[in-house]
Amino acid sequence: MPSVFRFKPPQNNMTHKLSFRIFLIVLSASLFVLSSCDKDKPGGGGLNLFTIADDKAFGAQVAAEIDGGAKTYPILDSASKPAAYAYLYGIRDSILNTGVVVHKDDFDWRLRIIHDDSVLNAFCTPGGYIYVYTGIIKFLSAENEFAGVLGHEIAHADERHSTQALTKAYGIDVLFSILLGDNQGTLSEIAKSLISLSYSRDNETESDKRSIEYLNPTAYDARGVARFFEKIIASGGGSGPQFLSTHPNPDNRVEAIMAYWETLGSKTGETYETRYKQFQNSLPK
Ligand SMILES: [Zn+2]
Repeated sequence: MPSVFRFKPPQNNMTHKLSFRIFLIVLSASLFVLSSCDKDKPGGGGLNLFTIADDKAFGAQVAAEIDGGAKTYPILDSASKPAAYAYLYGIRDSILNTGVVVHKDDFDWRLRIIHDDSVLNAFCTPGGYIYVYTGIIKFLSAENEFAGVLGHEIAHADERHSTQALTKAYGIDVLFSILLGDNQGTLSEIAKSLISLSYSRDNETESDKRSIEYLNPTAYDARGVARFFEKIIASGGGSGPQFLSTHPNPDNRVEAIMAYWETLGSKTGETYETRYKQFQNSLPK
């Protein structure tokens, strides 16, 4: 049961509903003041009225909507492609097992492949339900590049940017109403539009940095996420409009990632291109 239940206003009682809203506004204002002092901490710098349990419950609801929406998100059945899923979970585990992911044991970190080669994107719901398109899998050319992108998406959920972005887009009372099961229509809308959810530039920068931090203790060359952006630039940007529309691309993004990589010790390592190619070839055309 989501912990938000404690906030549920009595039905048909406008006074209580009004107090509930005032309570939220005052709480929002207090947290905003507090969070402004806290920008350098993981997950800091943004308003977030959700608890960790709320993130999980909300994410599970959104994931169930996505999984049921075969037209919007044609998911590759994990039972029909066990080797491909095992490969992706291996990459995920190499990131989770570093101990750097804050909510490693709190969130599900479940993976789903969406079979659409035309979409160069990946996203993660609150609570760590990860979706990757075959388009981005096929665009990349090495396992560490995929791990870099996966790390970036994991960071959005781990730092709870996804909850912050949804709060900004829909309002916290709408999110709470979904948690309470009172707003199926908006839940469906959110599930359909998650791919176009925009993050702030600060959140993008933070996720890029966390990707380097996640890969640093692994066998991977930690520059995977920078290689992804270099490939986008090399392709003229035309191959990645969806990713770039939801992941705003400051001019110096690659430079910023590389500078951070250097400050953390310039960790080189494996790229695993051969086995990544085998994984790509195992996917449907
Ligand atoms: Zn992003």
